[in-house]
Amino acid sequence: MELDAPVLLSVDDLDTLIATLRTDGYRVIGPTVRDGAIVHAELTGVGDLPRGWTDEQGPGSYRLHRRDDDALFGYAVGPSSPRRELLPPRHRLWTAVSDGDVGFRVREEEHVPAKLALLGVRGCELAAIAVQDRVFLHGLYEDQVYTANRQDLLLVAVECGTPSGSCFCASMGTGPGIDGGADLTLTELFDPHRFLTRAGSTRGQELLAQLDHTGAGAADQDERTHRMDAAAEQMGRHLDTTDLHDLLLGNLEHPRWDDVAERCLACTNCTLVCPTCFCTTMEDTTSLTGDEAYRDRRWDSCFALGFSHTGPGSVRSSTRARYRQWCTHKLATWIDQFGTSGCVGCGRCITWCPVGIDITEEVAAIRATDGRRAARTGASP
Ligand code: SF4
Ligand code: SF4
Repeated sequence: MELDAPVLLSVDDLDTLIATLRTDGYRVIGPTVRDGAIVHAELTGVGDLPRGWTDEQGPGSYRLHRRDDDALFGYAVGPSSPRRELLPPRHRLWTAVSDGDVGFRVREEEHVPAKLALLGVRGCELAAIAVQDRVFLHGLYEDQVYTANRQDLLLVAVECGTPSGSCFCASMGTGPGIDGGADLTLTELFDPHRFLTRAGSTRGQELLAQLDHTGAGAADQDERTHRMDAAAEQMGRHLDTTDLHDLLLGNLEHPRWDDVAERCLACTNCTLVCPTCFCTTMEDTTSLTGDEAYRDRRWDSCFALGFSHTGPGSVRSSTRARYRQWCTHKLATWIDQFGTSGCVGCGRCITWCPVGIDITEEVAAIRATDGRRAARTGASP
């Protein structure tokens, strides 16, 4: 949804936007450079953004480099995603305090609604939020923590002009351009440095009304179209989604699962960086003195051996079974469960896999030797 005509914001206007949000009580989270990567952290102004930085990504590799301009959003997604803010990696649910010899008093943690603004959100990340909304807001149960973080969420999205070597959002239909889902959507344009800005909600309109913007012309819009076309052309990877659900579920015994299991370390990195993964576990601990006990919810991963432990052992005891479960869930059974793919093409699992396993390559290998076709033709897969 797009309300009103697009406008132009300057870098100073963007700084004012961040200041306005902070004055309104929002904690503004966005990209910043830390420890050699672009990660999400609290922003106090445009000075905190990765001005003049870009990233080089590929299977198992991530490097930052200097750009030859002052772009504020001249890079693709880093290891952190909105999931970290909406579904924190660890969250205390309750504390039990000893009442002396008699027993325990349980104190439940309050889920206080957060006034959170996410700035610099990409198209694939908006799609990932929509995926998690289906699970935590519109699923069988409404998650109190997610709901508290989500209800006042303000989204300032930025269209992706510099996709990385791991990105394939164009294949998944989630980027690089953005057609809705954010309160404000920015496209960074140069010479002069400016942001073509569209409001996607009443709140976005109100924010724009507080800023000293100018109107955008046809040339600005053409430049945006050109940038998005160029970004889609530069996409580092491609995933053929034709018949993908049936392709994967029809190849559950394909030898490629053995091949990938030889390389996979079952380290869980791919699930921890994925913006749509939602699995958690409970962890109980006690204080050293033994007079307090805590129950925390923390992220879990289907790559962990204990994840599928039931009764006498793990249902998925081999790495082959766990990689297959993850890949087929993301790209096939997620559709059965939630009516949408569980993969938005952000490429994080490719970049942050220590051995460079690439989901697009694995699927392409299965497609190239499709066991169903082999069964029909009599050839061996
Ligand atoms: S499976 Fe990989 S590419 Fe797809 S959304 Fe998750 S991290 Fe991104
Ligand atoms: S695919 Fe890569 S990131 Fe995922 S568990 Fe295996 S080794 Fe780790």
